[in-house]
Formats: sequence, structure tokens, C-alpha cells
Amino acid sequence: MSSQRFKSLLLFGPPGVGKGTQGALLSAMPGFVHLATGDIFRSLDRNSALGQEFLKYSTQGLLVPDELTMRLWREYVDSLIEHEHYDPTTEALILDGIPRSTHQAEAIKEHIDVLGIISLVCPDLDLIVERLKKRAIEQDRPDDADEAVIRQRFEVFAAQTQPVLQSFDAALIHEINAVQRPANVLQDILDAILPCVEGQFEDAMG
Ligand code: ADP
Repeated sequence: MSSQRFKSLLLFGPPGVGKGTQGALLSAMPGFVHLATGDIFRSLDRNSALGQEFLKYSTQGLLVPDELTMRLWREYVDSLIEHEHYDPTTEALILDGIPRSTHQAEAIKEHIDVLGIISLVCPDLDLIVERLKKRAIEQDRPDDADEAVIRQRFEVFAAQTQPVLQSFDAALIHEINAVQRPANVLQDILDAILPCVEGQFEDAMG
């Protein structure tokens, strides 16, 4: 495990606001690597002890405990580097779904250098509920199938995740309207983040 701090952009916002969609779009561009904690957890074997531990929390709309989350996240980043899927010297991490608690925010600061925070904002959460129910079927996600679990995740977001923003310099935060076509959201994100990334990596024109 290296001691370098990974240059990162945070994708922030409530469940279903479009973090995954935007992360995938950004990751298609050289220089950006999308890393979603939800995807890391879902890649665990559902029958393993860790996979069962994840399901125990996610199916209730609760956060996985911070220590386990941080450990799995760090191991995953190291495995990306080891397998040459991420090069910290030329690429920025797009972190999606972490940090999700103030404790995670403090813990992750040892590992990352935050270049900017993309805060996706949707004033009407009811708009998101239907989208998530559709995703339940498309992506086989038990946590999206039950409206009560979806609403619980919004509660957890408001209570535990929203305060995370206060632990970062306000100048890093870019609020983006998430209620637009994905291409327009992407455009707004790029306008906000490209100046943050400018000059951060030596061979940026690669
Ligand atoms: P969503 O944003 O729609 O809730 P995710 O795929 O980001 O979906 O997360 C799914 C579940 O994985 C969460 O409800 C939670 O149980 C768990 N999870 C993801 N990221 C974290 C995190 N940083 N800390 C704790 N639990 C997490």
C-alpha cells in the first residue's frame, strides 16, 4: 500500500440522482477512473460472509459500517493500481458513493487529495423514486425494489451523508442541477471540473 494521496473528484448526491450515469460517462474519457462503492459491494459474492454482511445493511437502506467500507475501498483502489486499471500519476479518481458519513470523510482525507466536489441536486426526490424502481428490475437490486427502502435511503442521506459537505472547503463544491438530460448534466460537470483538473497531471494531453 503506497502512501501517496490520490487526486480525486467526488460525485455527491442522493441515491438515484444520476451519479452512476455521470461517473460512467466521465470514465469513458482518458484521465478519469470512476469508482463506485456500491459497485464494489455488489461485486462481492452474495454467499460469502462479506457479501451477506453487505446485504444485511443495503436491503434495509442502511450504510455499511465505516471501517469495513474504508477497508474494502482502499483494497479495491490498490487492486486497480496493481492490475493497471488506474494510474495515480496520470488519472483522477471519480469517487461515487464515498465518503457517505462524516467519519468516512475524515478517514478518506488521508488517502485522497480532493480536486473538486460535484454535488448533484434534485429538489424533488419523488422524481427519483420511479427511476429507482425501474433500476431494481434492470440491475437486479433488491434495495431499489421496495419504496420504503428507497425512502429510508433518502433519510440516511439527509441525516448522515449531507453533513459530509460541511467538512470540505466550500470553494471545492460545485452544485449541478441533476434534473436535465444526462448530456446537459455532463456538460455542466465538465465546465465545473475541467479547471480543477487543469495542470494536475504532467502528461495531461495524452
Ligand atoms: P444508492 O446511491 O442508490 O444508494 P449505491 O450503489 O451507491 O446506491 O449503494 C448501495 C448500498 O451500498 C447503500 O445503500 C449502502 O448500503 C452501501 N454503501 C455504498 N456506499 C457506501 C458507503 N460509502 N458507506 C456505507 N455504505 C455504503
